[in-house]
Parts: sequence; C-alpha cells; structure tokens
Amino acid sequence: MSVRLELEGVSHRYARDGDPALADLSISVEPGELVALLGPSGCGKTTALKVVAGLLAPTAGDVRVDGRSVLGTPPERRRAAMVFQKPLLFPHMDVAANVGFGLRMRGAPKKDSASRVREALRQVQMESLANRRPGELSGGQQQRVALARALVTDPQLLLMDEPLSALDANLRSEMRDLVKQLQRDGGVTAVFVTHDQEEAVVLADRIALLFDGVLQMYDRPQAFYDRPASRAVAGFFGATNFLEGRAANGTVRTPLGKLRLARPAPTGDVVLTIRPEALRLEGGENSFAARIASATYLGTQVDYTLETGGARLRAALPPHVRLGVGEEVTVRLPPESLWTLER
Ligand code: ATP
Repeated sequence: MSVRLELEGVSHRYARDGDPALADLSISVEPGELVALLGPSGCGKTTALKVVAGLLAPTAGDVRVDGRSVLGTPPERRRAAMVFQKPLLFPHMDVAANVGFGLRMRGAPKKDSASRVREALRQVQMESLANRRPGELSGGQQQRVALARALVTDPQLLLMDEPLSALDANLRSEMRDLVKQLQRDGGVTAVFVTHDQEEAVVLADRIALLFDGVLQMYDRPQAFYDRPASRAVAGFFGATNFLEGRAANGTVRTPLGKLRLARPAPTGDVVLTIRPEALRLEGGENSFAARIASATYLGTQVDYTLETGGARLRAALPPHVRLGVGEEVTVRLPPESLWTLER
C-alpha cells in the first residue's frame, strides 16, 4: 500500500545562531507520487531528505506518514530506502549479496530472500551479473544495484539524493526512465533530490523548488513554465523575457507599448514574462516591429535576440524559419502567453 508523506512547517538549523538550512517547509506527497526537490546547490534539498529519512531531527515542524508523526521513529524503522549519488556498495560482496544485505539484517528467511533478490535484479536488468563484485561493474550498473538494494526491502518511501548526477548524459536519461518505471510499477511514494531542472521536469509528478531553504513554488512541472510564482522562479526555468509595466483594466503599459492580457492581473506595477517559444512572427494584436540582433542555430530550433523600440526579447523559432541579423520583422506577443508577475 502506498503512503502519503507530509512535511509541515519543517525547519532545520545546523548551528543554533546560524541561518536555517531549511525554513518552514510544508509539502504533501500523495501516495505513489514522485516529488522532486529542486534548487541550486546549498538550498536545503539534502537537509529536507535527511529529515524525512530520520537522519536529522528538524528544529521545528512535523513529518507524517499516513497522518502519523514519524519524528519519534528511528531511521531503520521508517521503511524509507535511500539511494545516493554514489552507490556505496560493499566491495567484498557480490551483487546478489549487496542487494540481499538489508533482508539478511532483518532476518528474512534465506529462500525467500534469494527469490526477492532475483526479482529485484531482474527489475533493474542485472540478473546476469549477480555474481560480480562492485569493482567489476560500470558506474551505471553499480547504480542499478543500489536501486535494486533499495527496492528489495519493499519500502514505503523511496528517497533519492542526486542518484543520476555522477552518470554521463546518455546513461542518465536511460536510468531516469528506469527510476520512473520502477517507481510507477511499485507504486512507492518517492522524493528525488536534484539541481537539474530538466531531470525534475522529466521525472516528477510535482516539483518543490527551494531557494535558500525557502519553498518558492510547489506544483506540476508545466506550471513552472506557464505560471511561475515569481521572476526568480521564471528565471530558474530559463525565462529571459521580462517587461516591466503598469497594469490597469486588462492591459499593461510597457516600453513596447500597450499590451493586452488574456488573464486578469492586479492593477499597478508588474512584470510581464513570455516564453521565447511563444513569440510569433506575425501581425495582429500585441504586435511590434523588431530587428534581429542575433541568431544562434541550435539544431532543433534557432534562438533569436529581437530588438524592439524599448526592449530586447528572445524568441525560439523552428529551424526552417531562417532570418538574418539586421532583418526587420513583425513580432507578436499572444495575450494568452503573457504571464503577469508582481514587481
Ligand atoms: P547540494 O545540491 O550542494 O547537495 P543541498 O541543496 O542539498 O545542496 P544542503 O546539503 O541541504 O543543500 O545544505 C543546505 C545548507 O546547510 C547549506 O548552506 C549547507 O552549507 C548547510 N549544511 C549542510 N550540512 C551541514 C552540516 N552538517 N553542518 C553545517 N551546515 C550544513
């Protein structure tokens, strides 16, 4: 049975007089959901994961599994399995013994353990290497063994701390798919720490974005592109088009001119943002004359910098649209693609 994990007002300070590494974090992870804790280095992701695992006691707040606080439960009784950046396998044991270690510690019957180990190795496609030592495996294979070791104990919570960041790009995307598939198939509630925005977007049902120990936004991946909570959140997700202006009656007066919005916005000083891929080369409502200032061919798209009367905008267009530097174009900012942020 999958469990619900809740963090409520969780804070942690490493030094009594220091800044909190984690401040008042409240998120709820639904049964079987995979949540990514995302943010730059030092933002408190690992601290949060350790609090869930029971390796760190929070200075304030509560951690609940299916509504019951687990703060008094020691790590080994929380039924949480961890996977780290480094596989941390026992070098003198073979693959099967590494995977079965946790079961042996729990006194599981030998025959039962053997079949569970076999099944776990099958899931990570490592059956044929069961008798190898970790030193005889590649980095990716070692990480598969670490995953099998985590899953074989049938955990309620799967906690992963940058498990793919030591792997090269190709292997990383292959392992990403495997992690997702195993987590889905097993229905285990999972928390995945990463500083890689793309990894979080591909893997997670929801993303919790942290800056300096503070939760900035908790939502489905698409929402970080469509309706970022702040300019900083938008910037972390690659947004570069920001237009300052004054909003009133569904329009915003910007350096480009008056732009109409499709969604209601608060009256006053605002910042408008639009994704580079949402700009259109066409006339009509919210369109302006612009000049191509630079063009960078990226294979699947071309990145343009557009100079308009009062602002520079980035546009990502399909590669068949080839425009030269200096060319004059008409660019449109579709109202439904404009998102208003408070200033
Ligand atoms: P990274 O991606 O680099 O692993 P992170 O987001 O996981 O970073 P944490 O490891 O949770 O961040 O650290 C959050 C803050 O707490 C950082 O400022 C870090 O320097 C500090 N910190 C972490 N561990 C300790 C510790 N044992 N003692 C004191 N401060 C610590």
